[in-house]
Amino acid sequence: DNRSDQLVYDMLEDVLTLMNTQAKTYNIQLNLQIEENLTVYCDRSQMKQVFINLIKNAIEEMKDGGVITINVRSNGNRCVIAVIDEGPGIPEHLIHKVKEPFFTTKKEGTGLGLMITNKIISNHQGELVIRRNEVKGSTFEVRLPLVAKIT
Ligand code: ADP
Ligand code: MG
Repeated sequence: DNRSDQLVYDMLEDVLTLMNTQAKTYNIQLNLQIEENLTVYCDRSQMKQVFINLIKNAIEEMKDGGVITINVRSNGNRCVIAVIDEGPGIPEHLIHKVKEPFFTTKKEGTGLGLMITNKIISNHQGELVIRRNEVKGSTFEVRLPLVAKIT
C-alpha cells in the first residue's frame, strides 16, 4: 500500500486512456464529467483498478453500445465518483449479492471484480453504493474521504 494525495481527474484520465480502445470496439463512448477538481488520499494503482473494474463491467453490459458517464463531484466531506451505464440495469434483488466473491451472471466471469473493488474502497474508508437507474442502466458510486480543499 502506497498512498499519497491524488487528483481524481488525473487518475480517471489514465483509466479512460486505457479503456477507450475496448469501449470503441463496442461502440461505447466514455464521457468524463468533472464538476469539481478534487483530491483524494489513496493508493493510485489500487484506485485506478477500482475504476477499471467498474468501467469494464459497464462495457460488458452494453452490447449495443451507448454512453458510459463518469461523474465527479463532492458531497459534504466526500468525493463522489459515479460510473453510470446504459445497460439493462442491475436487478434489485441482486444488488446485495454482487459484492460477494464468485457471484457472477457471466458465462466466463470470475465474480471477483466487485469483491476486490469493494475491498479497496473500504480499505480507503470509503463505500461503494450500487443502484438501478430509473430509466435504464445502473450506477456504481464510489464515495471516498475528500482531502480538505485549501481555500
Ligand atoms: P464478473 O464481472 O466476473 O461477473 P464482478 O464482481 O465484476 O464479476 O460482477 C459481479 C456481477 O455483478 C456480474 O456478473 C453482473 O451480474 C453484476 N454487475 C456488475 N456490474 C454490473 C453493471 N454495470 N450492470 C449490471 N450488472 C452488473
Ligand atoms: Mg467484472
